Amino acid sequence: MKIIFASANKNKIKEIKALLPESFELLGLADIGITEDIPEPGTTIKENSFLKAQYVLDFLKQKNETVAVFADDSGLEVEALDSAPGVYSARYAGIPKSDANNNKKLLEELKLVTDRKARFVTVITLIINGEVHYFEGEIKGTIAYEGRGANGFGYDPLFIPQGYRSTFAELDAEVKNTISHRANAVKKLIAFFN
Ligand code: IMP
Repeated sequence: MKIIFASANKNKIKEIKALLPESFELLGLADIGITEDIPEPGTTIKENSFLKAQYVLDFLKQKNETVAVFADDSGLEVEALDSAPGVYSARYAGIPKSDANNNKKLLEELKLVTDRKARFVTVITLIINGEVHYFEGEIKGTIAYEGRGANGFGYDPLFIPQGYRSTFAELDAEVKNTISHRANAVKKLIAFFN
């Protein structure tokens, strides 16, 4: 089935393509002609996830049975920072968005903090046949004292998943893609279609 993923993030598209069965034809925003950044004015990850999916539906102006749209909004929540950066993860260090600056700011905020517990959260919103469905995934872990590894994107160099010593950026993409917040949400999405 043809399914549109409301994201221009090549890393996310790659991770989700690897998880979905071959029977799904996944199209990203570039494939349907959306080149602008989708606004994320919401105050929660769930809200922004819904707004992204709805934005694409509005763009397509066709809510028939053959078109399914889903969006992923994710964030990193650090316990000692009252769940920041959370919904503001992408622009934690300001605009223009920069992974390097975000990581730098996070290390700075945690300079004197020894409790480094954190979690990644993903909320997928699927809109199909006019109905809205949500699928949530999370992974718990801790924040490293310095960036390590070159794989992945975003906060991957700083996030050590529970049960591992390596950061997401040091782990093989396949390992991250088996245990991650996004993988856990996508597994629920696939179960829904099955
Ligand atoms: P958004 O879901 O595209 O708004 O992303 C929110 C922020 O969290 C961005 O800065 C991403 O880089 C970061 N982020 C989302 N998913 C991941 C991930 O799997 N690893 C590392 N950072 C992530």
